[in-house]
Amino acid sequence: MPEFGPVTCAGCGLLCDDVTVDASSDGVRLRPECPLGARWFSEQLGRSDAAPATIDGEPADVESALARAAELLRGARRPLVHGFEGATVEDARAAVALADRLGALVFTGDGVWPGAPALALRGASTATLGEIRDRSSLVVIWREDPQSTHPRLLERLGFAGATPERALVVVDDRDTATTWRADGQHRWPRDLDLEALIGLHLWQKGVAPPAGNLATELGRLTERVASAMHVTFVYGPALNAGAGGQRRALALHELVRAMSHERHVVTLELPDAPGSRSADDVLAWQSGYSGQVDFAPGHPEWVTATEPPDDVDVTVRVESGPAGGVVTGPVWIRTAAAGVQASGTVHRLDGVPIALQAPLPGDAPTAATLLRALLAKVAP
Ligand code: SF4
Repeated sequence: MPEFGPVTCAGCGLLCDDVTVDASSDGVRLRPECPLGARWFSEQLGRSDAAPATIDGEPADVESALARAAELLRGARRPLVHGFEGATVEDARAAVALADRLGALVFTGDGVWPGAPALALRGASTATLGEIRDRSSLVVIWREDPQSTHPRLLERLGFAGATPERALVVVDDRDTATTWRADGQHRWPRDLDLEALIGLHLWQKGVAPPAGNLATELGRLTERVASAMHVTFVYGPALNAGAGGQRRALALHELVRAMSHERHVVTLELPDAPGSRSADDVLAWQSGYSGQVDFAPGHPEWVTATEPPDDVDVTVRVESGPAGGVVTGPVWIRTAAAGVQASGTVHRLDGVPIALQAPLPGDAPTAATLLRALLAKVAP
């Protein structure tokens, strides 16, 4: 296969648009180098080797698979639409339209249910990657390891070479590829994060926490923040996922709001999947809420549950996992990989819309096309 590029890589939410792909018999290589992006392109290029669809694991044609999926959805009492890991804006729009017609529950993820999303409760101070690169003199990475999950983040934030006038600090009690690159590290266990965020907030108001190891670390971090006029907090699932995650996220956004009285402070969220931001934005445009929305009452209702309801009987999983596709119960239908065989739009992790190209020909439909066909069959 010839080299192609420059194209946009959707291997993580950074959506780097300067990537050249060399897919030879020795494997896939990217320029600029990125092992995560190479793995993503390798998985997407391998998609076309699979059957167009399967029903109960047996190969099937797309029309039969659509008919079976529509039959399941017509009989569903409590359908759930979820996934979106590799979905485009167009895929998410079609999925939300289907959910609206079905009276389904929509969850723009595939794992832990977040509960009451902190962003919707308090809002957030945010900035684009370019603004952070040009303005932030201190970047605090909260318990994430972007060198593994978003390998070019530090380069995109301007930390590619020596940056004597800027500092990169990590809050983490682990040693990671990112802590190795950092100018400083603050260590405390993850289960003290809420206490630490509230402690920083109190310190911001002039109330020092009681002496102890955590107080020493918080004092050092407060001093670093006090010496910078533009600060960015980078956070992600390590802060806001799991039990108490949204309470911790809320504490971070409240801290940022308090700090912003004296300096410019912003946050940058690292989503756990590249399609999550697009799906959240589409759901917000179309329903007024993001994250988890229930269309069963006949109008969109925001869901603050921390677990899926136990009466879900049919699920539609959209572009999730390495094989992607649209999965309805035992029916899987292969889709063209957005960014390789199909074009589309995806929102970068800072909310900027980015176009995905289709550098290689493909024979499969997009998830958006399949979901629209399903909608036509379910509600002609
Ligand atoms: S950092 Fe992310 S978007 Fe950029 S090349 Fe690597 S995997 Fe792709």
